[in-house]
Amino acid sequence: MHHSRILCGPRARLLTLLCIPGVLCGAPAALAAPASPETVAVQLRDAAIAGHDIAYTWVSELTTRFGPRPAGSANEQAAAEWAAARLKALGFENVHIETFPITAWVRGSESAQLVAPISQPLVAAALGESPPTPPGGIEGDVVLFGTFNELKAAAPGSLSGKIAMVTQHMVRAQDGAGYSAAVAARTDGPQAAAERGAIAFLLRSVGTDSHRIAHTGTTRYVDGRVPLPSFALSAPDGDQFERLAALGQTIRVRLVSGASYRADAHSQNVIADVRGGERPQEIVLLGAHLDSWDQGTGAIDDGTGTAIITAAAKLIRDLPHRPRRTVRVVLFGSEEVAQPAPPGGAFGGHAYVTTHQAELANHVLTGESDLGTDDIYAVGLPKAAFSGAFADTVMRVLTPIGVLRAEHPPEDAGSDVGPSVEAGVPAFLLNQDAMRYFDIHHTPDDTLDKVDRTQLDQNVAAWAALVWLAADSAVDFHSHEAAAPHP
Ligand SMILES: [Zn+2]
Repeated sequence: MHHSRILCGPRARLLTLLCIPGVLCGAPAALAAPASPETVAVQLRDAAIAGHDIAYTWVSELTTRFGPRPAGSANEQAAAEWAAARLKALGFENVHIETFPITAWVRGSESAQLVAPISQPLVAAALGESPPTPPGGIEGDVVLFGTFNELKAAAPGSLSGKIAMVTQHMVRAQDGAGYSAAVAARTDGPQAAAERGAIAFLLRSVGTDSHRIAHTGTTRYVDGRVPLPSFALSAPDGDQFERLAALGQTIRVRLVSGASYRADAHSQNVIADVRGGERPQEIVLLGAHLDSWDQGTGAIDDGTGTAIITAAAKLIRDLPHRPRRTVRVVLFGSEEVAQPAPPGGAFGGHAYVTTHQAELANHVLTGESDLGTDDIYAVGLPKAAFSGAFADTVMRVLTPIGVLRAEHPPEDAGSDVGPSVEAGVPAFLLNQDAMRYFDIHHTPDDTLDKVDRTQLDQNVAAWAALVWLAADSAVDFHSHEAAAPHP
């Protein structure tokens, strides 16, 4: 679905709304009486749709100046310093960097080669956090499993000396549901393979493209380490393996990875506020992550997320009146290597909750942008506000740019704000069209040219309008089912 630029107000209208540095900020008669929150939300929406340079400029500079930003790298740290300086220059308050220690994973030189029944170079990428092979590599026969469940059904010891491979295909879906179905093989496959005696783990890339690029991604620590050298193979190479197996051929590969770890690394979250006018202690938390995988430049994962929330908050910051509540932007570090549970919990979302424990009860709402840059098609509000006057206002503002009401309140708001949500902060979800996202996700192809500026603007419009409405309201988004009746 595509919104129409016919909906946009003239740029002149923007000047009555926003105080732009260097532009005279007059007091037109229209502002004599304060506009209703809904009117302001419509103006924010239309200003973003009309074309707002902040978001595109942000992601362009971020990816150009700093390139890949793996967790704990010098690039990630330099990007955080730049982001903090830029947020200050944009007029945000309370801008600072919060550092936390991590063990960084560093990709080494790597290769994959089919050695039997024919010789053929393969396109593969080591999975994040996975250990190196010996310098000469690991060679073994490959045992294929069509699904992760089939691997888990294999008997203990049955893969002794073999390389286990899951060939499961990911399904393309608008809401990205195919990813959650396929990704367990990546996070937990190395452990399942190791438990059955395998010497290495291979995975058909978790992605929807048919190009010879490999999709990396993190794997789970077991007892403090990833158990096996593990690799994602490009989809066409995975297809080749399946055809060879169907011909009854024994597939033998050699895998080489020079990956390493740095135990004394650190990552960081960047914090920036638009301070609320009436209830500054109440916080609407917007999240996205500044780190990226190392193969591309992290344009759609998640440079655009950081650009969308920053641009939306900047539009709100430039209003003549502050919202009642504080709008907080957090650019998280170390998201891509996130471990689902401790002891590997050293990632930005956990670090934020630890550092901000005392004020979490005053976080009234949170949301995260981390599914690329294509159009938002649905909005899910937390249970307590899923229907009613607030939701109706949101729908009146967002429906004209193609955003429908989600069927349910969000069950999962994303990994950066996940720990905050687990700690009780209500979450909203602005669902982005994920049809092409997983063609590019975690590959060398995640670069700036994939960003569609019109759709980027639509994202900023939806975020600015919704966040404004929430921050300027007194709505209680918490559910109080377990507590005493709430007034
Ligand atoms: Zn991401």
